[in-house]
Amino acid sequence: MSERKLAFIYSPEIEGLSYPIDCPFKTQRAGLTRQRLLSFGLLGGEGRVEVPARKASLAELEEFHTARYLEELQRAAGGDLTVDGLHMGLGGPDTPMFKDVFEYSALACGAALTAADLVLAGKADIAFNLLGGFHHAMAEKAAGFCYLNDVVLACMRLAAAGKRVACVDVDAHHGDGTQAAFYNRNDVLTISLHESGKTLFPWGGFENEIGEGQGLGCNVNVPLPAGTYDEAFLMAFDRIAAPVLEAFDLDVIVLELGMDTLAGDPLTHLRMTNNAHVEVVKRLLDFNRPILIAGGGGYHVENTVRGWALAWRTCCGEDEEHDASLGMGGVMLASSEWAGGLRDRALAVTTEQRQVVEPELRATIDRVRNNVFRHQGLAPQAAAGCGSACGG
Ligand SMILES: [Zn+2]
Repeated sequence: MSERKLAFIYSPEIEGLSYPIDCPFKTQRAGLTRQRLLSFGLLGGEGRVEVPARKASLAELEEFHTARYLEELQRAAGGDLTVDGLHMGLGGPDTPMFKDVFEYSALACGAALTAADLVLAGKADIAFNLLGGFHHAMAEKAAGFCYLNDVVLACMRLAAAGKRVACVDVDAHHGDGTQAAFYNRNDVLTISLHESGKTLFPWGGFENEIGEGQGLGCNVNVPLPAGTYDEAFLMAFDRIAAPVLEAFDLDVIVLELGMDTLAGDPLTHLRMTNNAHVEVVKRLLDFNRPILIAGGGGYHVENTVRGWALAWRTCCGEDEEHDASLGMGGVMLASSEWAGGLRDRALAVTTEQRQVVEPELRATIDRVRNNVFRHQGLAPQAAAGCGSACGG
C-alpha cells in the first residue's frame, strides 16, 4: 500500500481568494491541511508529490454547466446580479456573490480535472483535491456554497476515458448535484451516505431515488438519522456501499470526503469521529483502484483539517505508532485544541443514542437494499458479511 503514488493538488493562488468573511465555508482549509501534512513530514518525498492546480477553461466547465449559467456567474462575480442569475440560485444566503466566486470555483474544477488526468495517465494512484467537493452545484444552479461542480466534472472526464466510475459521497449533506448529473447513466455509480433530508439541507436524497432508465439502480442514497455515530455509519457502509461497489466492477473511485459529519460541526447533526473516515478510506483502498479524493464540507475548521490530514496519512499507509511518536516530538504546534495526533478520541455512545439511531437506520438499510440490490445482481437479504453479528 505504501507504494501508492499520491498527488496533492494545490495552488498558493488559492490563498488570495476567499468567500465572504461571514460565510461558514472557509477556503483556507486546504492550505491548513497542507501545512499540517508538511509539519508531519507527510508531503513531499518519494511517491508523495504536490501538483499545482490550474483554472478550468470555459469549454471544460461547459462539459456539465450551461453557457448561460457560466455567463451569469461571471457577471454576478463582477457585481452585476441579474434576475436570471437570481433564478439560477446566485446571491442567496447559502450562495453569496463575491468577487472571487468564479475564480475560486474554476480553480477548484481545474484541480479536479488535473487530479483526473493524473489518474488517467497513471501518474497518481491517489489524488487529493481539497479545493473542491462542490457536490450541490447543478448544471444551471448554485446551492449550498457550491457554484461549479468539480466532482461531476472529474467523474465525467474519467467516464469519457472509458472508465467505470464509482462516486462515493460521505459528506453530511446529500450529493444532489452529482446525483442529478448521472441519474440516467450506468457508467457512473453514485452512492451518497448523508444526514437525512428530513433534518438537513438539501432536504432530499431518500431511499427511493435510485436512478432512472439506464441508470436504474446506479444511484444509491443512505439517509442517516441525526445522531448517527461511527459504528452505525460503518454498519450502513458495510451493508450497502461495500456490496454495491463490489458488484459494480469499478475502475476508479471518486470520494467526496466532506468532514461535516464530525461531531461538533456547527451546521449538521451527526456524531461521528474521523476514525470512521479512516475505515472508509481503508475499505476503498482495498479495491486496489485509483482514488480521487475531493474535499467538500466541514465547518469546524480544525476538525476538518485533521480529518483530511488523517485520510492522507491513511492513504500513505502510515501506522498509528508512527503517528504517536510524531505527536510526542511536538509537531502539533499548530493546534491549540488537541495535542494527541490526528485521530479523534473515540466518542462514547449512550444507550439512548443507540435507541434513537439504530431502529431507524436498520429500517433504512433494509429499504435501500430492497430498492437497489436486485438492479446490481445482488440479493437484498444476503448477509454481506454482517447479518446477525450486527443484531441487538
Ligand atoms: Zn456538507
